[in-house]
Amino acid sequence: MSYQALKERVCAANKEINRVQLAILTWGNASEVDREAGVFAIKPSGVDYDEMTPDDIPIISLETGEKVEGKMNPSSDTETHWHLYRVFEDIGGVVHTHSTYATAWAQAHREIPCLGTTHADTFYGSIPCTRPLTQAEIEGAYELNTGKVIAEHFEKNGLKAGELPGVLVSSHAPFTWGTNAMKAVVNGRILEEVARMASITQELNPGIGAVDQYLMDKHYLRKHGANAYYGQN
Ligand SMILES: [Zn+2]
Repeated sequence: MSYQALKERVCAANKEINRVQLAILTWGNASEVDREAGVFAIKPSGVDYDEMTPDDIPIISLETGEKVEGKMNPSSDTETHWHLYRVFEDIGGVVHTHSTYATAWAQAHREIPCLGTTHADTFYGSIPCTRPLTQAEIEGAYELNTGKVIAEHFEKNGLKAGELPGVLVSSHAPFTWGTNAMKAVVNGRILEEVARMASITQELNPGIGAVDQYLMDKHYLRKHGANAYYGQN
């Protein structure tokens, strides 16, 4: 089976991470799932964005987590992506970066409260921050456990991946998702901008809290869900 179109989209999404300056060097990675085919495609490990071609993109089995096609080793974060696809059944693409402001909030172990409508247009509530991984989780199956800690946080707090397309992993960095890889990159870019605005807002007014629910509802629900009316149909 050829996964050419999937590889092309994932290659383009990884280059986009670099183009929109969400990652320096080779730090970020993007993937996209084809649920009908039972596979996902992900960035190869340690390959420069400029030199990456669709042929370099490895294909991973959704069922086993093993590589089924491609010469290159997949990203070291592959098992985190794999776990997210299995627990969040409505997502189509995942992105991980160490973008500066989002990572700063993750390092501060702080969720990002909804301080305004820029946030509410994309994230329906605070952008969550997981608990830190334990020593045993870090020394064991670290990347898989990172995915499990994200899933645990959503489950425990009754959060929906479809309403909150991103998360901060404590002492680490953000993961974002979307209906495909390119949309996951866009959500990563929005998360970074929201994190930057929140940092500046809290510096200007340290006592400011989250916006009222009705303002968040207005902005989120006019763009998402059954009664959305933003855009060109
Ligand atoms: Zn990382």
